[in-house]
Amino acid sequence: MIPFLDLKSLNAQCRAELIDAATKVIDSGYYIQGPQVRAFEESFAAYCGVQHCIGVANGLDALTLTLRAWKELGLLKDGDEVIVPANTYIASILAITENRLKPLLVEPVETTYNLDAASIAAALTPATKAILVVHLYGRIAPMAQIMALANQHQLLVLEDSAQSHGAMTDGKRAGAWGHASGFSFYPGKNLGALGDAGAVTTNDATLANTIRALGNYGSHKKYENDYQGVNSRLDEMQAALLSVRLKYLDSQTHRRREIALQYAEGIRQPELVQPIAAGLSLTDLRNHAFHLYVVRSARRAELQQHLNEQGVQTIIHYPIPPHAQKAYMSWSCLGHLPLTERIHEEVLSLPISPVMSDDQVQDVISAVNSFA
Ligand SMILES: *Cc1c(COP(=O)(O)O)cnc(C)c1O
Repeated sequence: MIPFLDLKSLNAQCRAELIDAATKVIDSGYYIQGPQVRAFEESFAAYCGVQHCIGVANGLDALTLTLRAWKELGLLKDGDEVIVPANTYIASILAITENRLKPLLVEPVETTYNLDAASIAAALTPATKAILVVHLYGRIAPMAQIMALANQHQLLVLEDSAQSHGAMTDGKRAGAWGHASGFSFYPGKNLGALGDAGAVTTNDATLANTIRALGNYGSHKKYENDYQGVNSRLDEMQAALLSVRLKYLDSQTHRRREIALQYAEGIRQPELVQPIAAGLSLTDLRNHAFHLYVVRSARRAELQQHLNEQGVQTIIHYPIPPHAQKAYMSWSCLGHLPLTERIHEEVLSLPISPVMSDDQVQDVISAVNSFA
């Protein structure tokens, strides 16, 4: 079986370094808010091209605490509307509703699965105060145009970069475009910890300080609490492991792009919608970190079963859109979203892991092409 994502093999590539980093933490006597966290925050901020990085417990907290900080700073208030793509992972929506803000779900552009400036402009209302842009599957949204629109309408922009570490457009990486950006380092993400972890990146020092306090019981100074905060901190162990994994991020993203190009060239299934056209080069793919290689088929269940029989494991990202989840059953205001619903019925993610061999990639291609 070609596994969807073989985390064990992925981490085996830097096993000795991970063990060395873990040993250093064990022997240091510092486990929370020590030098490893500071070092990772600095290197990840530099990687993204921003001034501040705040480590938090996970990606959901990165988004939730940023919106909360804007409320504490008086930039957002209860009931303000936040534009967000309807076809996102539910965490993006949870961060909005947890803060008693109103999600305005917008259909994505069908070819990119992301919002663009035109779809956001068409959805704006007088109550819209922020945009939560999701760089879904690893493809960065057209941020130059989105930021121009946001500046014109004085909207806050939060990027959900949980799937797009390193993706770049117009010379800037995911995480450096919005007023802030949330990252997840869940083990299966392109930059993954060996447990839960997340971070916020921003160039706004006031926002950075507020998020840091909110994630630490609302405290800037020990035993003095300015906010009713929470406990959401990146720990020394995960930070040390992430510093090891960060060194490999670019080469692993490069390998993901190579695999994506091989899929785009090799897959000959006219009824399948592919995420990129054939004939592109590696430089054309800088805007895509290929967290996932998502194809679409009107006969998804049959395709998935066929691939499974051929020894190829696939996953559906995601089977049910957020607005159709039981959690939001009483929120009919989220609306009717036919394109998003069709996307959720048709998408299928092929294996795309940096440890896949060319032979395995060819096996996936043959398996897809033999689907009748
Ligand atoms: C994974 C993910 C999150 C949440 O990250 P966690 O670390 O699992 O909390 C948020 N948004 C998107 C788009 C994700 O893929």
